[in-house]
Formats: sequence, structure tokens, C-alpha cells
Amino acid sequence: MLKIGVLTSGGDAPGMNAALRAIVRNGIFREGEILAVQHGFQGLINNQFTPMQRGSVADIIQRGGTVLQTARCEEFRTPEGRARAAKNLRENNISSLIIIGGDGSFRGGELLQKEQGIKVIGIPATIDNDIGGTDFCIGFDTAVNTVIDAVNKIRDTATSHERIFVVEIMGRERGFLALYAGLAAGAESILIPERPTSLEDICNKLDHGFQRGKKHSIIMVAEGVGGDFYPNRALHKTPAYALGEAISDKMGLETRVIVLGHLQRGGAPSARDRILASRMGAFAVDLLCEDKSGLITGMVREEMKATSIGEALSLEPEINDEILKLSHILSL
Ligand code: ADP
Repeated sequence: MLKIGVLTSGGDAPGMNAALRAIVRNGIFREGEILAVQHGFQGLINNQFTPMQRGSVADIIQRGGTVLQTARCEEFRTPEGRARAAKNLRENNISSLIIIGGDGSFRGGELLQKEQGIKVIGIPATIDNDIGGTDFCIGFDTAVNTVIDAVNKIRDTATSHERIFVVEIMGRERGFLALYAGLAAGAESILIPERPTSLEDICNKLDHGFQRGKKHSIIMVAEGVGGDFYPNRALHKTPAYALGEAISDKMGLETRVIVLGHLQRGGAPSARDRILASRMGAFAVDLLCEDKSGLITGMVREEMKATSIGEALSLEPEINDEILKLSHILSL
């Protein structure tokens, strides 16, 4: 009988619970046994396995975060740590592991498979949407909706006070969240790490908007953005504060800075994320039933697709310049 371990690892993302539910329910449907691991890879090392029944995952499809808890685990980065994890898996007769997480978690999983022969399937769940082999990762759609909701509220007060708001969005290396949320929220400017923008361009756009009678401006800034407005990281904690000050200095206008922070990670998963997570969770079990491993689940043009972990991690998801251009045109 197929005995599968499942864990969530790295940063949490809305929809992880929906994926867990699908793994447990489809695993039992396929006459397998599912054991949940608490606290990510740390739980493997600490031998924390819980046998799951259909009812164990009742009432979690709508919950954000992860009921399995997630953790970062330094020990798992070492071959000795991974050997301990594999020993515990073998002692529990578990030959396969499903990892719900991000790129770091998949790198760890790939090593566990290579060194210890444990079968591994990864399910991409990250609001950064930075995994290859899938159009979208679990959690991204919910985070976009969360940011839109926050910006709608900011917009109400921005209009009332005729102010410039600089809103900082999560995304240290990738600007997907800022880009999609920016287009959907009608931001005046979107700054992402992949496409540097100068202070002059930002101010020219603001000026143009005010000249045609705009009452307020919202600038979305991904947290990993650099640029001429952010020359000294010691002076400003984040690019949003640096940009807010630079605009005030250059244009003599009042700016307000809002860092949305961790609220972007929370909340009930959206319909799209619940459907994506349910499909990916069930698909991961199906792959193991077909004796496949070393793969990441993906959804490409609405179809389930599996890509090798190595390929998915090396395939850099591309920013869609058409969306960036469109957001610029629509906010002129
Ligand atoms: P995410 O999966 O969201 O990218 P992290 O990068 O923090 O999150 O990774 C989660 C965990 O995966 C780490 O705490 C560590 O245990 C493991 N991990 C990350 N990178 C590696 C690696 N290169 N080798 C082995 N394990 C890793």
C-alpha cells in the first residue's frame, strides 16, 4: 500500500490547507495511507507523524495559513539532517513525500530524493508566484485580492485628501504580486525589481496626472525594488520610504507610505486558489500512484502538468511586459 508523508514548508500561503485536504482525501480514495508532518522538515527530523483520516481535513478548505504549521529548518540543509529525516520516514514505512512550499523547500526535497531515495513531489504554494512549470502558484490569487482590497481602502482616503500614497508590496526578487495587483487596483505607477524605473519618470507621470486633474496617486512598489531614489539602504529601511521622501523633495508634495507586510499572506483562499490547490493536491497523489517522483505539480493553460524539480527551479517565470505596458497606458 502507498504510504505518503505530507508537509508544508517555508513561507505560508493561502490554499495550503485546501491542498492538504485534497492529498488526504484523494490518497484515501486511491487506497493509500497519508501521514501528516508538523512543522515542515523539522517535523521529519523530530519524527512528528500523524495518520490522517478523511475527517482529519474537515473544515479546513476555507482557512488561510497552514494547519500543519510551517518552519524553516537549518538542520535539513545538511546531509546529516536529511539522513535523519529519511531514517524516520523509512522507520514509518513511508517511501514518498509531498512537499507543499516554495523553491527552497523543493531544493531540499530534491536533495532528499537524490541522497536518500525518497520519492518526492512538490506543490508550489507561494504568493511570490516565482516557481517555473506552472502559470500560477497556490496563494498568489488570494494575495492579489488582498492587496486590491487594501488599495481600495487607501484610495478612499487618498481621494479625500488629494495625496500621493506609496504602497509597498511583498516581492523581494519578483514583482508578480505588485504587477497584477497594481493593474487590478488601477495604480498610477508600478515598480518591480525586474524593470527599474527612474525617479524622473515617476515624477513626470505624477505631474502629468495632476495636470489633467487627478486628485490622488497610488504607486505600488515591490519590496525588492532598487533605483536612483534608493541609493543608500542604511538611510531608509525600505524602497517605499525612500521613494516617498524622494518624491516629496523633488515635487514639494505630501506623500504617505504604507507597507502592507504580512497581511498579504493571510486570509481565506480565493475560489481560484481553492480550485488550484484541490487539483494540485489530488494530482500529486495521482503522480505517486503512477510511481512518478522528482516532480513539481503545475497548471498550464488550465491543465495539470508535471515538471521535473530541476527544470521548474531553473525556469525563471517571466514578467509579462504587456501587462506592465497596459497598466501604464490605463493610468495615464
Ligand atoms: P520556501 O520553500 O518558501 O522558498 P525557504 O527558502 O525558507 O522557503 O526553505 C524552506 C526550508 O527548506 C528551509 O528552512 C530548509 O530546511 C529547506 N531548504 C531550503 N533551501 C535548501 C537547500 N538549498 N538545501 C536543502 N534544504 C533547503
